[in-house]
Amino acid sequence: MRTIAAHTLGCKVNQYDTEAMLERFERAGYRTVSIRDAADVYLINTCTVTGTGDTKSEKLIRRCARLHPDCAIVVAGCLAQRRAEELLQMDNVRLVIGTQRRGQVVELLEEALAQNARVNAVNSLKNAEFEPLFVSRHEGKTRASMKIQEGCDRWCSYCIIPAVRGPVRSMKLEDVRAEAERLAASGYREIVVTGIHLASYGRGTSDTLLDAIRAVHDAPGVERVRIGSLEPMTATEDFARALAEMPGLMRQFHLSLQSGSATVLERMKRRYTPEEYLAACETLRRYMPDCAITTDVIAGFPGETEAEFEETLEFVQRARLARIHAFPYSRRSGTVADRMPDQIDEAVKHRRIDKLIELGNKLEEDFVKGLIGNVESVLFETAAGDGLAEGYTGQYVRVRAQAEPGSIHRVRLTGAEGALARGEVID
Ligand code: SF4
Repeated sequence: MRTIAAHTLGCKVNQYDTEAMLERFERAGYRTVSIRDAADVYLINTCTVTGTGDTKSEKLIRRCARLHPDCAIVVAGCLAQRRAEELLQMDNVRLVIGTQRRGQVVELLEEALAQNARVNAVNSLKNAEFEPLFVSRHEGKTRASMKIQEGCDRWCSYCIIPAVRGPVRSMKLEDVRAEAERLAASGYREIVVTGIHLASYGRGTSDTLLDAIRAVHDAPGVERVRIGSLEPMTATEDFARALAEMPGLMRQFHLSLQSGSATVLERMKRRYTPEEYLAACETLRRYMPDCAITTDVIAGFPGETEAEFEETLEFVQRARLARIHAFPYSRRSGTVADRMPDQIDEAVKHRRIDKLIELGNKLEEDFVKGLIGNVESVLFETAAGDGLAEGYTGQYVRVRAQAEPGSIHRVRLTGAEGALARGEVID
């Protein structure tokens, strides 16, 4: 039996695409093995959102070729979409597919091998349509991701994603419902609804993101639903009210901030102001007072002054964010920001990142402390020894308690060590 090993770089959407491709290989008779083992085929699903994504992707391709000189390598994903010809010349690479045609990956590879050729299967994304991939099994067994949307046309000045993921397209509402039902029937207890720019779900149709969330939430058997990254402007009064009426909707909202400075946001071509962001947080909290609002922040955007960075530090405290993912700005050729003057020194970026991480840790600890005494629903995922297990509340707070992995319980939070809460099961 032929074997395949896969590795994903980057985001949840990429993880979903990898699972979809692996399933196709397995259906064609391949056996999946670990990336550390010898395999006939290595599938590397690449990321290009930062320079680090590029470097890691290329390193891994080289490593697979060096350690397994007889293997065939398939390179997929965002970097593949951007630099297909270059990647195709790397040792052992037999197929490059970008961010489309993942459903045909097995046929394309077998054709390349049969013809002893190297195949560039990357297509233009101009009129790309949504490629329904349908994944039925997910790593970890308890939580499954569902990609319901592809592409972005926002063209934020620092971001290369619109160029590598193409235009906005969405999974049909009936497919959303059917996939959610299928995942629940396979035993997944939580579904994470993801997309490249989720807020654009349904564009060009009469369906909205809220319709899609409701379709997942109401699908028979679905217990918990979590939403991927949202735009602050999506969190309107009607949206928040409708979410609050869904008991299975997890109260964690990832609202991308990127900067708390109005002037930096303008240069980033983000379409909201810090005040509008704050209003979105308030709206969500009005309907779901204990919700967690988490975010991404970029440090060292071109021209970011100390004063602008201080505005961001002050803003994330004012917004009482529960967790911050901080990234140093990474230059991407082909973007507007790459051509901006006053690029920031790496040392300065990293000093700012350190400050954001320190503040983020404190905000996270404060948020967890604020939940002590609450009773929360926890999906336990991993064993932690001595009959204990760890899992997550709706707000995505990690909890350790006496429980079985895979179970959902109501848990009273009794204390915290840093960002890890302790609790006792009460049902
Ligand atoms: S919204 Fe902006 S940051 Fe997000 S994927 Fe689109 S262009 Fe990139």
